[in-house]
Amino acid sequence: MDGPAFQRIPPWVKAKLTPKAITTIQEVYDWVENECIPAEEVMEAALKEHRWTTPPIMKELRKKAKARGLFNLFLPNHFEESPGLTNLEYSCCAEIMGRCYWAAQTMNCHAPDTGNIELLAKYCNKEQKEKWLKPLLEGDVMSSYSMTEPDVASSDATQISCSIRREGNEYVINGRKLFGNSLDNPEMKTIILMGCSDPTNPSKWNRHSMVLVPANSKGLTQVRNLTIMGEDHAPNGHGQFVYDNVRIPVENIILGEGRAFEIAQGRLGPGRIHHCMRLIGQCERAYELALIRCIDPSKMPRGKLIGQFDSNIEKIAQMRLEIDSMRLVVLNAADTMDLLGNKAGKYAIAQSKILVPIAAAKIIDECMQLYGGAGLTQLTPLPSMWTYARFVRLADGPDAAHRHQVGRDEMKTAAGFRDRHAKYKEGSKVLAKKWL
Ligand SMILES: Cc1cc2nc3c(=O)[nH]c(=O)nc-3n(C[C@H](O)[C@H](O)[C@H](O)COP(=O)(O)OP(=O)(O)OC[C@H]3O[C@@H](n4cnc5c(N)ncnc54)[C@H](O)[C@@H]3O)c2cc1C
Repeated sequence: MDGPAFQRIPPWVKAKLTPKAITTIQEVYDWVENECIPAEEVMEAALKEHRWTTPPIMKELRKKAKARGLFNLFLPNHFEESPGLTNLEYSCCAEIMGRCYWAAQTMNCHAPDTGNIELLAKYCNKEQKEKWLKPLLEGDVMSSYSMTEPDVASSDATQISCSIRREGNEYVINGRKLFGNSLDNPEMKTIILMGCSDPTNPSKWNRHSMVLVPANSKGLTQVRNLTIMGEDHAPNGHGQFVYDNVRIPVENIILGEGRAFEIAQGRLGPGRIHHCMRLIGQCERAYELALIRCIDPSKMPRGKLIGQFDSNIEKIAQMRLEIDSMRLVVLNAADTMDLLGNKAGKYAIAQSKILVPIAAAKIIDECMQLYGGAGLTQLTPLPSMWTYARFVRLADGPDAAHRHQVGRDEMKTAAGFRDRHAKYKEGSKVLAKKWL
C-alpha cells in the first residue's frame, strides 16, 4: 500500500482494508488514471456532436470496466448482489473515481443509479428485483429518482403533493416534478417516484408512497431540460415533468402504500457519502492543477513563481489541511455506517453533507484563482468541479435542512448539560465550605 493509490488513505483506514479491497482500490486507481482521464477530451467532443446519446466511448468503457469486475462497487457487502466492499472501502474508491467527473459512470457507480439500486435491492420483492433491479445492475438501463416538485418546499418531503390514486388494479399519477434525469436520453428507462397516496392520513409520515414508473408511460411529458448554473449535464441531464393521468399497475408499488419515508430514510445515507468522497477527489485534482501553476516558469508575476509568494504558500498549506480534514470526516461517516448502520450514522452523514460541499467549493475556487483567468475557462476542468461542489449543497437536500436537524437534536441535549453543570456548582460549594 505504498503507491499513489493509497497515498491519501489514513493509517486507521488502511488497517481495516481487506486484501480484496486493497486490490480493488489499486484497480480503480489504474482504471481512472489510464482509461478515464485520458479519455476526457474524446468524451467532450462526442457530446458536442450528439448531446443526448451516451457516447460510444462511454459504452465501451462501461463494457470493459464490467468485464474487469469494476462494476457496482458501491453496493455494500451486506447485500447479496454486492461485489463485497464495505462503505469505508468503497469510499476510498469513490475518492479516486471523483478525479474524473464521469469515471463513476464507467463503473456503474454514478448517482442517482447508486441510490436507486440500493433502494431496489433493499425494499423490492423478488419479481420487482428481476424486472427493475437486474437491468440496472447489469448497466443496461439508467434510472431516475423523482421527489422534488416545483410547487412545494421539497426539502420538507411531507409536502410532496404529486397524487398517486388507486383505481382498481392501477395507480393513477397526477402532478408536476422538478429534477430527475432527462428523458431525452433513450437509455433512461425507470423512474422511482415519490407521491402522495393518502393525503388525509392523520400521520404525515404515512401519506406518501414510492412507485416504479416506466419512462415511456403515456401521460408523462418532459416540459424542458434544466440547466445547472448554465450546464445541461448531458447526456444524463435533469428535467421538469408533468404527470397527467399516468397509469401504472399496482404491483409497481415499492414495499407498500404509505411507506415512502421508511424507504427514503434507507436510500439517502450512502449516496451523500459517495458525493462527498467524489468531491474530495475533485479537490485533489484541482489542487494538483494549482500546484502545477505555482511552479510554472512561464507565469512569473513580478519575476517570481506564483508559488514563491508567501501568501500562496499559506493558501496551499490551508487547502491541504482542509482536504485532509474533510476526508477524515467522510471516512468516519462511512465507518460508522459499517459498524452501526445507516440510521446510527445519521449525524456523521449530515456532518459530511454540511461540511464537504461548502469546503470543496471554497478550495476549488481558490485553485481557480491561483490558476488565473484560464482557470475560469473551458481550458481546465475547474469550472465544472466548482459547479459540482456548489450543486451538492442542494442535491439530496439543502445543507440548511441538515443543519436544522443536527441543531434540533443538539438542543435536546441542553437539559442534560444544565443538570451536569448544576452538579459542578454543588460540588464547588461543598469544596468551598471545606477549603475557603
Ligand atoms: C443538480 C441537482 C440535482 C438534483 N437531483 C434531484 C433528483 O435527482 N431528484 C429529485 O427529486 N430532486 C433533485 N434535486 C432537487 C433537490 O433535492 C432539491 O432542490 C432540494 O431537496 C431542496 O428542495 P427545494 O428546491 O424545493 O427547496 P426548498 O425546500 O424550498 O428549500 C429552499 C431553501 O430554504 C431553506 N431551508 C429549507 N429548509 C430549511 C431549514 N430546515 N432550515 C433553514 N432553512 C431551510 C434553505 O436555504 C433551502 O436551500 C436536485 C437538485 C440539484 C441542484
